[in-house]
This record gives sequence, C-alpha cells and structure tokens, in this order.
Amino acid sequence: MPRSMHEYSGETDALADDIVAYARWRTKLDPIPLDHPRTEDELRRLCGPTVTPDGIGGERALELFADVLAPSCLSVDYSRYLSFVPAAPTEAAVLFDLVVGAFSIYGGSWIEGAGAVYAENEALRWLADLCGLPPSAGGVFVPGGTIGNLSALVGARGAAEARLAALGRQRPARWAFLVSATAHSSVPSAAAVMDADVIAVETKPDRRLRGDAVAAAIDLHGDRVAGVVATAGSTNLGIVDDLASIGTVCRERGVFFHVDAAYGGAGLAAPSARHLFAGIDGADSVIIDPHKWLFAPFDCCALLWRDPGRGRAVHAQHAGYLSFLDAYGDWNPSDFAIHLTRRARGLPFWFSLATHGTDAYARAVEVTLDLAAQARRRIDAADHLRLVWEPGLSIVVFERIGWDAEQYQARTEKMMDDGTAFVVPSRHDGRPVFRFCFVNPRTTVDDIDLIIGALR
Ligand SMILES: *Cc1c(COP(=O)(O)O)cnc(C)c1O
Repeated sequence: MPRSMHEYSGETDALADDIVAYARWRTKLDPIPLDHPRTEDELRRLCGPTVTPDGIGGERALELFADVLAPSCLSVDYSRYLSFVPAAPTEAAVLFDLVVGAFSIYGGSWIEGAGAVYAENEALRWLADLCGLPPSAGGVFVPGGTIGNLSALVGARGAAEARLAALGRQRPARWAFLVSATAHSSVPSAAAVMDADVIAVETKPDRRLRGDAVAAAIDLHGDRVAGVVATAGSTNLGIVDDLASIGTVCRERGVFFHVDAAYGGAGLAAPSARHLFAGIDGADSVIIDPHKWLFAPFDCCALLWRDPGRGRAVHAQHAGYLSFLDAYGDWNPSDFAIHLTRRARGLPFWFSLATHGTDAYARAVEVTLDLAAQARRRIDAADHLRLVWEPGLSIVVFERIGWDAEQYQARTEKMMDDGTAFVVPSRHDGRPVFRFCFVNPRTTVDDIDLIIGALR
C-alpha cells in the first residue's frame, strides 16, 4: 500500500527542508540573473515525463524545477528588467507568500477568513487613504488590473442602469465607456466582454484627458454613457489624466467615474508625485496593482469602491448553498468583484507593509522616481539617443537615433541572450522606441549606464 499523499511523513519532512531552503536561497540571491526562455521541445527533452501514474517524487520534481524550469522563466525582479511593468517584491512579501500558501485560507468570506480579510482590509485602507476616499470606501484584492477594470466597469454599468431606471428612462441599446486614448488594453477588452463600446475622448497634445472634453462627450452620447475611465499613469508613457476636472464633470452629470491607476497608483505614496493625482478622491472606483510598483508578488490588484454597495449590487452571488454566508452580514470580499473562491492574495502585501511601515514605501517609490530622472539626464546627454516624451512617473521613453524596427529587435534579443538587460521595443506614434519602466529600487545608475552603453 503506498503511503497516503495527505500524510506528513519523514519524506515530507525532508522535502519541507529542501523546499524552504530553496525558497530562502532564491530570496537571498544577489545578483539575480535574468535567465532565459526555452522552447517547448527543449523543455520536453530536458525534463522527460513529469506527470506519470506513479509520480516522479518530490525531490526529483524540485530538482527539475530548480535546474530546468525556474531558469527558463525570466526574473522580473532582475535589476535590468525594465520592460512592460516589472515587479520587485520585498523579501518580507515573498517570504510571507509561502505562509499564505501553507494555510489554505479561504479569502472569499468573513466567516471563513476573518483574520486574513481583516489584514487585507488594513492594506486596502492605506491605499484608500492615499486616494482620499471616505472611511466607508472599501474593496478587495483581485488577480490583476484586467479583472479589476472589468469588475469596476460592471459596477459602473449597474449604477447607470439604476440611474436611468430611477429617471424612468430606457436603457440604451448599447452602452459605451468614455476613455482616454491612453487607456490600457484591458479597458476595451472589458468593454468587449460586456458587449459595450469604448469611445476615446479627444485630448490635447499632452494626451491628458480633461473634464471639458468629457463633458462634451457625455452631452453628445447621452444615456449611452455607462461611465468614464480615466488613466492615472498610462502604461506606455506614464501620463496621468486631469482627474480633478473629470471628477467634477462626472459628479455634475451623475456619471460613474473609474480611475485606472494599476501601474501609476503607487505614485500616490511618493510625496514628490502625489500632486499629479489631485482629484482621485472624486473617483467612484480605483484600481492599483501592488504587484507592479508596490513591491508585492504576483498576483495582486486592489479594487476600491467609494460605495462598496455599488460593487455588491452587481457582484454578490446568491444561491441556497451560499445562504449561510448571507446570514453573516459582515464583509465578504467575494461580493466586490468577479470571483467567488479567492486566495487571500493581499496578505503578502499587508505583511510587508506591516513589517516595514508606509514610510519605507514612500522612500522606495521615490528611489524609482529618481532613477527615472537620472535615466532621463543620461539619455539627454547621449548622442545616440533622443527622449521622445517628457517622462511621466517612472517611465522614460526614448529612441535610438537611426535605427529601424529590425535593429531594435535584434539588439533587444542580443541583450536578452547575453543577459545584459530585458529592455524590449515599444511603439510611440507608430515608431519603434525603447522604454524604461522603473519599479525596482535595486536598479542602479550603473545599470542604466550599462544599458545605454549596450544601445550604441
Ligand atoms: C498593467 C495595467 C493594467 C492591467 O493589469 P494586469 O494586472 O496586468 O491585469 C491595467 N491598466 C493599466 C494602466 C496597467 O498599467
């Protein structure tokens, strides 16, 4: 009779030592290598069969992970990984993630996960306070900005439906969201899931969405408008829309105002950047991804509702088998987004915040903003590079003078192959550009110089 796989044996104990030692080794690793993807064929050849009737054993599976699989994943916390939006979780957050996994906490309801939900709410409260949202605001940690935006837009539509019904007006044949041209790809994707349109509202050359343009668009599209989505830190350029004037217009016209601060919201923690977000306190919902610029491991997006009832109205699930939970009218995180079962994914973020304090977060975000300022100076000084946009938050976009798209691609691959950096081309106005996104306080000015040198 083989041992039950739910029994803690001597073998399990040995495996526990190895796993904890391995996790500790990775957490300590310095410098962190970039590593490199492999093809599926290569991985199959190197691993052999892994899922078999008898199992290959924990030691062998761990060895395969350590020797083959882990090095075949790019290290997003590598100091010269500056593409997309990287991540740089704190040691405290990473280590606590192990604990969260060990506990099998159900984070969907208060009665099952009270302690975890309480702690997550403490972390959400810090973010709500940074935004200036009222004490009654609250929300939930969801997997990412994509689900956060979708959940918020469903809430916006619910609010629009309620408003039209109260006025005795028909709901439109098709809803539309007013967005800035810089809106993240997840916004049109959310609208498509909802069978709604997105209408990009005109902006001035600085590409910031403003209240007057939003007012004109609301007047033009009338009852079709389910909500307005402003971006606070666009993904490509770091642009923050004019939240104050947009919020005023939305309030005057009774239109739901969502702020997508998935990347940029961390800037609220930095005294030097906070003014850029003036007016975010007028939002009906906000998303901020701690897994981007607030040093939490994947996956972790904070979705905040000014009025959590708006979220509950559209997202709470009802069924006989859930009625027990309804009897406890407490705070059930499941009610505030599109999900039911959920990992208490905000706990690593909470643990790190509790460990280090919010001042340490302010300092770390300032460090990355300063890296962007230093990079900008070095790009200005480099005769082979040209800044293409005044840096927004921690994003610096520039061109390599004289290169076509193929040259951008070839140099990117070379830098990835030799482990110099992970800096991939982006596009700006149809042209290839390079883009640095600083979220890792471990990045140094020497790292920046090394990359600038590698782009000669
Ligand atoms: C990254 C990003 C998203 C999507 O977030 P995920 O966590 O990747 O799903 C949405 N909006 C903005 C502005 C982003 O930068």
